[in-house]
Amino acid sequence: MLDDLKNNLHFTTWHMVHQLPRFFINGWQSIQLKRTLDLTYRNVYFYQELWDNLKINIKQIKVPTDIYILPIINKNTLRELDISKIVNRSYSGRRTWHQTSGSTHEPFKFLRGSLKMPWNDRRYFYSANYRFLLWSGVGFKKIISNLKVAQIHTAPHPTQNYLFIHTENLRVSPQKTITELKMYGADILEGLASVLVELARIAESLPQKERPRFSYVVSFGEVLTSVERKYIEDIFKCELYNKYAMEELGVIGLECKQHNGFHINEESRIVNVVDDEGNELKPGNSGRIVITYFYNDILPFIRYDTGDYGMIYPGVCPCGLPTYKITVNGRHGYFIIVNKKRVHYMELDVVLRQFAGKIAKYQIVQSDNSEPNILILPTKDFSPSDLKDLQIKFREILGFALKIEVAKDLLYNQSGKAKIIINKPE
Ligand SMILES: [Zn+2]
Repeated sequence: MLDDLKNNLHFTTWHMVHQLPRFFINGWQSIQLKRTLDLTYRNVYFYQELWDNLKINIKQIKVPTDIYILPIINKNTLRELDISKIVNRSYSGRRTWHQTSGSTHEPFKFLRGSLKMPWNDRRYFYSANYRFLLWSGVGFKKIISNLKVAQIHTAPHPTQNYLFIHTENLRVSPQKTITELKMYGADILEGLASVLVELARIAESLPQKERPRFSYVVSFGEVLTSVERKYIEDIFKCELYNKYAMEELGVIGLECKQHNGFHINEESRIVNVVDDEGNELKPGNSGRIVITYFYNDILPFIRYDTGDYGMIYPGVCPCGLPTYKITVNGRHGYFIIVNKKRVHYMELDVVLRQFAGKIAKYQIVQSDNSEPNILILPTKDFSPSDLKDLQIKFREILGFALKIEVAKDLLYNQSGKAKIIINKPE
C-alpha cells in the first residue's frame, strides 16, 4: 500500500515536472542528479577513479549547471573497459541486456535497470513516448487506455501490448503488412524514417482507399528530412512527430506542434551542448550533445557524448512549454566534399526541400576523391522536368552542379538504416 502510494507520487511528479516553471524543473533535476552521482560514486569503479584522479568532489555539484566540472566520456571509453568496472556493484534489481545499433561504430552492449522506474509500469513508457498528445490536450488516461500503436522495427519493446511488425516482414510480404496494419487500425505508427518511407512507397502504389491511415506517425533513429516528412504525411494523411531517442539514453525528446526541434524529457536527463573542448555553449550555439541520464542505476551514463551535434533553442518555444528544446543536426560526419570544399548535407537540403511532394527520399553517395552523387527516390508527381529544375537550382544556390540520379530503391547499411550520406571507398 505504502509502496503503491510512493510509486504513484514518483510517477505523477516525474510525469508532470516538464510542464512546470523552470524553477521546479531545476529543483527536480538537482535532486535526481545528486542521487545519481552519489550512487555512482559509491558503486561504480570507473567513475570513482575518474573523478578521484581529477580531484573532483561530487558534493560540490548541487545544481544542474555545476555539472560542467565533470569530464565527458563516450561509448569508446566504456566499451574498452571490463564490464565489472562500469556496472553498479550493489545493484540488485531487474536488469536486461541491450545493444546500440552500431551505425557509426561497433555496437556497444550494455545493461539497463532502474530502481526508480518499475519495469512493468507502462505509465512511464507512455509518458516518455507519447506526451506530445498530452500537449495537444489529450488526457493521459485516454492515452494509456485507448491508444493503439503499431511499430515496424527489428525488436519489440518487451512490456507493451501493441502490433509489432518485424522490418523483415515488411520487405518479404509487403501486402500482408499493409493488410495487418489496416485490420489493426492503429492511431500511431512508429518506425525508422527510412522504413516509413518504404511503407509509404508501397501504400502509394495502391488506390487511396486501400492504404492504411494513421492519425500520427512517429519516426525515430535516423535523421528525418523535410522531403521525407512531407511524403509520409501526404501518403498516410497523418501528422508526423519526430522522436530523438538512443538505446542507451531512452527517449531524449519529442516534437511539439511546432515540429522544429525536440522538447527534452528533462525529468530523466540533463542535456548539455558543448564545444570541441567540452566547454558549455549557450542556447543558440551548435555543438556536441552530451547527456547525463538519471535512470540507469546499473550502468550509469554521466556526461556521455552522444556523437550527435545540435543546438538548444534560444528563448521559449511558441507552444509555451518551459522545457528546453533541442535541434539535432546529425552526426559530425554529415559532410560531403564538393569542389574540395566541405559541405554540410543541410546546404543541399535547402534545395531538395523545395521539391517536397515530388521526392520521397534522397541519399548522397560519395566515393573517395570523387564528386558526390545524389540519388533521388521519386514520388508519382516527379517528372523529367523536375530533374532539370533540380540541377538548375543546385547551380544557382550552391554555385556548382551535382550529379543526380533517379533511383528505384534505397541503399541500406549493415545495421539496416538508409542513411542520408553514404561514404563508399572507390
Ligand atoms: Zn514547443
